[in-house]
Amino acid sequence: MVSSMDRTLGVSATQPEVKVRVRNLNVYYGQNHAIRDASLDVEKHRVTALIGPSGCGKTTFLRAINRMHDLTPSAKVTGCIEIDGVDVYSRDVDPIVMRRHVGMVFQRPNPFPMSIFENVAYGLRVNGERSRDRIADVAENSLRRAVLWDEVKDRLFESGAALSGGQQQRLCVARVLALRPDVILMDEPASALDPIATVKIEELIAQLREDYTVVIVTHSMAQAGRVSDRTAFFLDGMIVEVGPTNQIFTRPKDKRTEDYITGRFG
Ligand code: ADP
Ligand code: MG
Repeated sequence: MVSSMDRTLGVSATQPEVKVRVRNLNVYYGQNHAIRDASLDVEKHRVTALIGPSGCGKTTFLRAINRMHDLTPSAKVTGCIEIDGVDVYSRDVDPIVMRRHVGMVFQRPNPFPMSIFENVAYGLRVNGERSRDRIADVAENSLRRAVLWDEVKDRLFESGAALSGGQQQRLCVARVLALRPDVILMDEPASALDPIATVKIEELIAQLREDYTVVIVTHSMAQAGRVSDRTAFFLDGMIVEVGPTNQIFTRPKDKRTEDYITGRFG
């Protein structure tokens, strides 16, 4: 049933809100057609996992969302990506401003060569924040949200590089959170981490869902099963199937998805 209020707001009670709408996306690296006519609705305040064999285009798809391909001269992007209804490839959109709202965490932790505190504070300063108190507040909150505060609060002015790999990755998450993003893109964020650090990152992702929309690339189906609400299965640059994670893993509709999740290839 759609209530009158829902009708006023233009949303149906049963339809989850779409945060990122991808339509007919194609990405080319020179002659290599890496993403082929991919369409996907990313639901708000959900974790969406992108899975599929190596080289199938997961990273390429993820990087299209915040226009990282702008930085790769050989890459060409066609199709449409909207975030909250705004075409991110429109001429009116400044990719640098947009990337604050659509933060990214990479495969290898890449803290800036600065102190722990400064890693989180730097982006605020670059964005014009002058108040030391405000910067200190946001830095602390971001480190708390990234479940790192208790481990670093007594050593905030030590180098970020002195942290363990898992701590560095949570610092990278804190750095993204400090800019108040809506969407967080993660490209195999735990692939360089040991099992204990991986558990911490997975727990953190589960918490982020409350306030953010998360898209995570993972080569680990077990990880997709643990952290995501929805899963999209990629093969040869195409999205073969997307649905609730549980359904994709237990009742896939496409034979190729079934072959992949049962380990017949990839
Ligand atoms: P995945 O993340 O699923 O492993 P990628 O998105 O990295 O896959 O790669 C998809 C395809 O695009 C592959 O054929 C890969 O070789 C190619 N590719 C990725 N990045 C580049 C690049 N910067 N230049 C040229 N080809 C690339
Ligand atoms: Mg990749």
